[in-house]
Amino acid sequence: MKKAIYPGSFDPVTFGHQDMIIRSAAIVDELIVGVLNNSAKNSLFSVDERVSMLKELTKDIPNVTVDSFDGLLVDYMRERGATLIVRGLRAVTDFEYELQIAQTNHVENPAVETIFLTTNLQYSYLSSSVVREFAAYGGDISKFVPPQFIDRIYAKYNIKK
Ligand code: ADP
Repeated sequence: MKKAIYPGSFDPVTFGHQDMIIRSAAIVDELIVGVLNNSAKNSLFSVDERVSMLKELTKDIPNVTVDSFDGLLVDYMRERGATLIVRGLRAVTDFEYELQIAQTNHVENPAVETIFLTTNLQYSYLSSSVVREFAAYGGDISKFVPPQFIDRIYAKYNIKK
């Protein structure tokens, strides 16, 4: 039974994240999308809002659940009985950071392995921060995020479309 966590900020969730969830759910038995409750980061959406958007997005994928966590990922994984971490690699810039975190987690708990999926070419430029920047200026975000979330994102910037 391969139980994996796909951790991230998902602030907000994008088509890139959705693609990662669909592809990794097809590889593992159970996937937990873990929204990091990082009090140090100034987030656009609250953790509860992010969790509920991800739940809406994944409701038809039977082996995916959504949860939030704070503190160390390895501790949360012990709690949930998960041994795999799923992360996405977009560009070389992601690599150095991801390598370091993956190795640190593995040293902390040798049972923990990180699997990396390379980004779908279609979404390799896409990040939550790009979405936030576009939305803040009323730009078109329909190519970046699932349609059901567009109004909620603009609303955070008091933009009515
Ligand atoms: P974090 O703050 O942990 O980087 P993100 O929400 O930005 O959280 O990303 C969560 C994970 O999803 C990371 O592994 C990131 O590389 C991956 N990811 C983000 N955007 C994309 C994308 N467009 N294609 C593939 N993976 C992505």
